[in-house]
Amino acid sequence: MNIVLMASEVAPFAKTGGLADVAGSLPGELHRLGHDVRIFMPLYRSVKQGDFQLSPLAPLPSIEIAGTAVAGRLWQGSLGEVPVYFLEQDRFYDRDGLYGTSRGDHADNALRFGYFARALLAALPQIGFRPDVLHLNDWQTGLVPALLRTDWRDSAFYTGTATVATIHNLGYQGLFPAEVVAALNLDPALFAMEGFEYYGQVSFLKSALVYADLLTTVSETYCTEIQTPEMGHGFDGILRSRADRLFGVLNGIDDQLWDPSHDAALAAVYHVDDVDGKHANKRRLQSRLGLACEAETPLLAMVTRLASQKGLDLVEQAWPALLERGVQIAILGSGDQDYMDRFARLGAQSKGQAAVRLGFDDRLARLIYAGSDMFLMPSRYEPCGLGQLIALRYGSVPVVRSTGGLADTVFDPRDGVAQANGFTFEEISSPAMLRAMDRALALYRQPGDWLRLMRNGMAGDFSWRRSALRYLDLYRKAGQLHHA
Ligand code: ADP
Repeated sequence: MNIVLMASEVAPFAKTGGLADVAGSLPGELHRLGHDVRIFMPLYRSVKQGDFQLSPLAPLPSIEIAGTAVAGRLWQGSLGEVPVYFLEQDRFYDRDGLYGTSRGDHADNALRFGYFARALLAALPQIGFRPDVLHLNDWQTGLVPALLRTDWRDSAFYTGTATVATIHNLGYQGLFPAEVVAALNLDPALFAMEGFEYYGQVSFLKSALVYADLLTTVSETYCTEIQTPEMGHGFDGILRSRADRLFGVLNGIDDQLWDPSHDAALAAVYHVDDVDGKHANKRRLQSRLGLACEAETPLLAMVTRLASQKGLDLVEQAWPALLERGVQIAILGSGDQDYMDRFARLGAQSKGQAAVRLGFDDRLARLIYAGSDMFLMPSRYEPCGLGQLIALRYGSVPVVRSTGGLADTVFDPRDGVAQANGFTFEEISSPAMLRAMDRALALYRQPGDWLRLMRNGMAGDFSWRRSALRYLDLYRKAGQLHHA
């Protein structure tokens, strides 16, 4: 199959969260399964400044955006064997950050990602790569299916192209004022309730939900949850109406990139049959963060975007209780300024027992996964969650709220499963979280049982191969639906 994966972030080129991991891993696995996959993403400043081999391709035809002819060009690089096309347009992408401080507050995001969609469709015929499937991801790519049904409807080039749109997070909807319809030269007929209009605004995400041939989301539980009013962010009705085209496929992690048995960021490597190396990582982490170097003290960690989705208010409320229990806390996060301020204060107040590091730091994240005993994710909702998968692999036992992908991957001994690998709680409250923590701390004092739980986690198979096979099935199904 010819497959184009389009995403606004792709690891290792640009990353703010799990989407980048998915977009950076799935294509390689599809390639190994014998398919011709190409990746398409913006040429951000971080990519330009990074150490990547890129070569320029011919300029793209200019595209009118907000009354101005916008010129662009593709640069070609690669991710393993997979070609990656970077869309250069400096006015839109040569700046700090991908979207603003959170996932959507550069004022011109509608133009930046409207251009992204238009440029992709103009670029593929120029490159001469005709996709059987266009795999889109989140709102930043959401206009593509609408454009295929309008501007590109009669193009012979795309008649065989099916679209699959993956929802990595329904909470980010790409909502913009109605004026963007004109600014992006979109067919006004699209601005309707049955189209991409959402209460007087344009939603790029809704465009994908309504017009893509097939929809996926990143876990089975999230797939069910988003069809309910409580968790549908206003889109549950649309999703229910497309339920026969909506599927959950659990993300994997790249087991080469995330492997404690050869990870250069670690103080010592280790694996499921010999976890001794974790001690050296814990010591290194403690000393690096200014925590007391105590082997026995349980070390609880978070590596997270600082956004309300992540249940950070529960952590804030439980902070004194956690400290009272004698645990050390290590938090690495970046995101909303308000949370950054609040957590910086908590860290400063509890120096020596807790450390808060603000910023995005892949190497420190790895040391945290390897050096911590427990990994906390009290998410209000969690489409899949990669943090807990990485934590499992690195032998940091997850303590999570049972929602979305967390519910599909973390199994509590309380539930009587043989392959228990962590601790879960249901209610969105700090007492519920603390009760799960207390069960974790009690087991931590039973080293044999703890080791068994940790090993169950490390031995789990969350590789991409399984997910990639499932995506291939769905690509075929999308093709059938497209031609039906
Ligand atoms: P989301 O996509 O909602 O942010 P996920 O758990 O799916 O959450 O993915 C988060 C990914 O980003 C993980 O790989 C995690 O290690 C990484 N990550 C999050 N915040 C940071 C940070 N501040 N520094 C380094 N890595 C981070």
